[in-house]
Amino acid sequence: RFDKDYGQHILKNPGISDAIVEKAFLKPTDVVVEVGPGTGNITVRALEKAKKVIAIELDPRMGAEVTKRVQGGPLAKKLEVILGDVIKMPQIPPCDALISNTPYQISSPLIFKMLSMPNPPRVAVLMFQREFAKRLVARPGDALYSRLSVNVNFWATCKHIMKVGKANFKPPPKVESDVVRIEPLLGSARPNIAFEEFDGLLRIAFNRKNKTLRAAFSIKEVLALCERNYKIYCSLNNIPIDESIVDSATATATDDGMDVDMDDDDGKDDGDDCDDGEDGEGEAGNEMDEGEDDDDMPTFFKEMKDAEAAKEAAKTPSKNPKSKVALVVRAKVDKVLTTTGLGDRRARQCDQNDFLKLLLAFHEEGIHFS
Ligand code: SAM
Repeated sequence: RFDKDYGQHILKNPGISDAIVEKAFLKPTDVVVEVGPGTGNITVRALEKAKKVIAIELDPRMGAEVTKRVQGGPLAKKLEVILGDVIKMPQIPPCDALISNTPYQISSPLIFKMLSMPNPPRVAVLMFQREFAKRLVARPGDALYSRLSVNVNFWATCKHIMKVGKANFKPPPKVESDVVRIEPLLGSARPNIAFEEFDGLLRIAFNRKNKTLRAAFSIKEVLALCERNYKIYCSLNNIPIDESIVDSATATATDDGMDVDMDDDDGKDDGDDCDDGEDGEGEAGNEMDEGEDDDDMPTFFKEMKDAEAAKEAAKTPSKNPKSKVALVVRAKVDKVLTTTGLGDRRARQCDQNDFLKLLLAFHEEGIHFS
């Protein structure tokens, strides 16, 4: 009856449904979005507290169930059911609170979708598989620290609320779950930069999170992206490309500066240190979609998982600079990594302020990531 492909693990303990709604501290004026109402266990409780609940459900059978559950009663007029995939919707509908016993396949894209909303909800109370929840609250240096951890803690505050054992679900999932409360920074507290810019930089940094940032930014495709965006930036803003930087930079770029050893600095083989989605969830044998953070990565990042190819890529541009603009960009990247003092640091050790400092320094040089 329940479809595993849709991540259908229905909450059978009413205490947990109560707690999820209670921890959202709903007001009678609130519009709530619930992702995946299923049979409506959380929905009915939210309807009792809020002005309106917009329930987004992929499975039409479940959509019918939740509608039937309130039909003819006083809560019916407060419920709107939208049938569809929340991830494919252009945007999460504007709301004050987001709640979900999250289908595990969409954990990562749902968080990114919420954080990138121009006006995110005041609060999100979300249940995730435990490994995923741990990634949300991971700190620099933790094994599970990833692009996701940095984004969540940059755009929001995140707090662990409670543990939920698998016996509370029907059918029980393979792994334990956790409920977290995420409070996005709103209004003037929200960082005044584009989500895609910050995330674009993090994608590059965490693509090889155990390598130095200098190594991450030496990859041919990364430099090509910087160059493309720099040209667009200059042309949109009517800024002439500053070629004066090249003469002094050429020596650095072609000799030692950017031509780094991708096997890097400490001489140790770090093994496969590709970002995110590969932080070991697969090993735990749980149901997490191991590649979920990779889903929206540009193709070139996927290709770069071949370490040998990445090494070659890092060497090529400095030896065969295609154009003067390429040299200008490489000199600018080198300058940013040196002046910020972050070139020799690794993404896994950097906190959100380090990444912000790096992004602002790149912007100063006209280099963008989205
Ligand atoms: N809220 C119910 C509960 O706690 O008992 C059901 C939660 S169940 C873990 C997840 C629900 O999300 C299922 O009803 C499933 O059909 C729905 N779902 C799965 N993928 C979805 C998606 N991409 N968009 C919207 N709903 C989805």
